Amino acid sequence: MPASAQKKPVQTASPAISERTTGVSDPGYSSAASAEHAKPFDPAAATQAWLDSVPRNQRARSDAYFEGGCWLTLWNFLLTAAISVFLLTSRFSARLRDFSERVTKIKNFQIACYAILYLLSVYALSFPLNLYENFFREHQYGLATQSFAPWLREQLIGLALTLVGGTLLVVILYAVFRRAPRTWWIWGTIVMIIFSGTLVLIAPVYIEPLFNTYKPLSDPKIRDPILAMAQANEIPVRQVFEVDASRQTTRVSANVSGLLGTTRVALNDNLLKQCTLPEIRAVMAHEMGHYVLNHGAKLLTYLGILILIGFALTRILFDAAVKRWGQKWRLRGIADPAGLPLLALIFSTLLFVATPVLSSVVRVTEREADAFGINTSREPDGMAKVALKLGVYRKLDPTPLEEFIFFDHPSGRARIRMAMDWKAANLPAGGSHASQNQSATH
Ligand SMILES: [Zn+2]
Repeated sequence: MPASAQKKPVQTASPAISERTTGVSDPGYSSAASAEHAKPFDPAAATQAWLDSVPRNQRARSDAYFEGGCWLTLWNFLLTAAISVFLLTSRFSARLRDFSERVTKIKNFQIACYAILYLLSVYALSFPLNLYENFFREHQYGLATQSFAPWLREQLIGLALTLVGGTLLVVILYAVFRRAPRTWWIWGTIVMIIFSGTLVLIAPVYIEPLFNTYKPLSDPKIRDPILAMAQANEIPVRQVFEVDASRQTTRVSANVSGLLGTTRVALNDNLLKQCTLPEIRAVMAHEMGHYVLNHGAKLLTYLGILILIGFALTRILFDAAVKRWGQKWRLRGIADPAGLPLLALIFSTLLFVATPVLSSVVRVTEREADAFGINTSREPDGMAKVALKLGVYRKLDPTPLEEFIFFDHPSGRARIRMAMDWKAANLPAGGSHASQNQSATH
């Protein structure tokens, strides 16, 4: 790895800001620095100055990318709904079930056979939108780095994983439906939580390596400051991983994945190439926040509650729909796999309606990780610079309503404002020059 810490940051800070911020990234000097300035630091003005440092055409581009993404949420939902309605009303679903029943007498195999054919049909019917959204559109905005062949190869790996995982889930759920036709929504929720937990647990070991290579970060100039933050927060990691995300994308990002023993913090190579050490520390401290604040378990719990509500409503709506259209669509009830598109239709409608709730639940945990990150890294300017870089694929300054409905992370403006508020508060640091001087006078 080249010494990325020495690389010049992308021009984000206006001269006015960089002057004001000199020395403050070292917490030891913060009190002294503030005493020198006659004018108090104004976090609102500083936030605006950071936002204004982004060229207008770049802002227009990322706004357009983001707004298109919001519309895609709607198109994807409408497509899923249309596919489900088509499978039901054409009785294609009923015919798939009849076919599965002819293939085998064993119930679980019938369900598996139906599930594979169903998943393949849905994948094929939604492929054009998938191709546009995840290939052409990404290239159009300069975010993708893959040509068509490797992209398709990864799509097929993803499809294979969906077929294995999806079929297994459907088989288990239908076993529940057969045994508990009235209370399946409770047991089904437990199945979903265990399934999601298992997925998170095995992802770093069995899924992520299928798409990317993870290797321990070797450059001590980057690695050691990150490990120091981990050590300061009792995070039991001995290494930080670097992932070759540039294989697929130009996006800057990092993540925590896994659960219990498989937990891993990884930063992507775009981040390493494009960011300075203060920015990398800001990002990694945020990721550590997810770990320390136990966000994996918390999100799984919130997810469980939302699924329980969703399944309870699904049960009521499913029974009502079968009563009304069951004969016409040749559905026999909840234990009949031919009803899977109806379940998908109801559940995806509920998910779509709950978009603001889902975004907000995730956004709140992201904001907690931001607060942890700024207190650990003590890099307000690094955090602001990274927020601008993330603004390449997220609208930097959305309206409050847009942020509420669509943002699963705080917006660039919200993140920069948090960093500038932190900076304005001018916290003293234990072991810094200021506090050492203080203790000397006692
Ligand atoms: Zn995060």
